[in-house]
Amino acid sequence: MQVKDLQPYEVFGIFDMITKVPRPSKREEKIGAWLVDFAKAHGLEYIQDKAGNVIMRVPATNGYENHEGVILQAHMDMVCEKNNDIVHDFMNDSIQTYIDGDFIKARGTTLGGDDGIGMAMALAALTSKTLKHPNLEALFTVDEETGLTGAFKLEDGLLRGKKLINLDSEDDGQLFIGCAGGIDTLAKLYFTFENVNNEDNWFAARVKVSGLMGGHSGDDINKGRANANKLLVRFLFNESKKTTLRIATIEGGNLRNAIAREAEALVLVPFEYKEQLRIDFNNYVSEIESEYKDVEKGMVLSLESETLPSQIMPHIISERLLLSLYACPHGVQSMSKDMPGLVQTSTNLASVKMRDGFVEINTSQRSSVESEKHDIKNMVECALRLSGAKVSHGDGYPGWKPNINSLLLDKAKEAYIEITGQEPEVKAIHAGLECGLFLEKYPWLDMVSIGPQMSGVHSPTEQLSISSTQKTWLWLQKTIEKL
Ligand SMILES: [Zn+2]
Repeated sequence: MQVKDLQPYEVFGIFDMITKVPRPSKREEKIGAWLVDFAKAHGLEYIQDKAGNVIMRVPATNGYENHEGVILQAHMDMVCEKNNDIVHDFMNDSIQTYIDGDFIKARGTTLGGDDGIGMAMALAALTSKTLKHPNLEALFTVDEETGLTGAFKLEDGLLRGKKLINLDSEDDGQLFIGCAGGIDTLAKLYFTFENVNNEDNWFAARVKVSGLMGGHSGDDINKGRANANKLLVRFLFNESKKTTLRIATIEGGNLRNAIAREAEALVLVPFEYKEQLRIDFNNYVSEIESEYKDVEKGMVLSLESETLPSQIMPHIISERLLLSLYACPHGVQSMSKDMPGLVQTSTNLASVKMRDGFVEINTSQRSSVESEKHDIKNMVECALRLSGAKVSHGDGYPGWKPNINSLLLDKAKEAYIEITGQEPEVKAIHAGLECGLFLEKYPWLDMVSIGPQMSGVHSPTEQLSISSTQKTWLWLQKTIEKL
């Protein structure tokens, strides 16, 4: 049994073809050309825009001419990951798929079910001989995975439909109706190192935080995990109130969208304070361990003596940096009132890095409410500017605020209940989706996101459930017929 032998052929046959076309993010020329050929072969109207996005259209079937148009949307790129022992050229080779029980898997590589199955269902709907539908469009975007580029560059005036079904979710029986927007805030605190005077009798210590859980700055921000930068700064600030404390170097965190797992600083205190520093540190460690005992089981805090460095930050810079980093918010700022359990607004104090002539602080903010995103962005800016740092923001991207009164949502729910006898779960996520960006150009869009069960996405363990795909295909068709 191969993928092309699975039923319904109209979906799995197309999915099988898609797995044979290379489509790494930012290199979508082959899959773009394949889509254009598909449109030509089936006599579909199509456009390929400057960004490489492909839009296809079919007119409404009998009786649906006056209904509002529906857009089906999926992204055409895939994450290309493989195991080390596999030879695979993602620019030229087909994905080697196989069937294992209820799952479609790939041999040693990502499968590209994300979002190949979304593309397959959209194309199956456009070419179905039996589906009754309003004017139907499909939008296939480029480079969702590494920059949401296609969604960013989508021009206004191209889409005609008023309702959009995004087919890029991967949880069976769940309906997504919102996502967070995001923006980055970057600070640079400029300074010139001072030489260390050996006669000043310093004690140098390296303070380290490691072994934290970390995680995604959106999905994991509400899990009570510690931020290594925050733990480090908290100790240093406490000590700076009791003695002269000077920072030689400070480094913490890594990726902007990850919660900091490690941080360390090389600091100087007066030599006679050495013992007190150790006593305070041990007290601090037990305090922190009790605060995080249920969450951070692998946490390690250490303090070790070091040889005296030759340079340190000026006193005023050390002090302002600690004040700013301590004041800078981190974590959940507000929860949604419409959707229980959904984080509405959060911020991540991602990294602190020593650069040539300045300290660089990277942070990122997320919110499903645009005005709150700007509020938290300003709050972080203020905390960091108080140190004297130069602060700038990225362009950011807008969120998609959940609309629990959406007609599309009602119809999708109804359809799901008719098929399964059960209510679908309605959810929103605290991370970015393409849908947020579509709203910028098409603010009237009513949207939901659905998709069949997948696991291990973005890794070679990616697998797609066959039965869930069959169910989602029925669900999609029934929803469209109700619109
Ligand atoms: Zn995806």
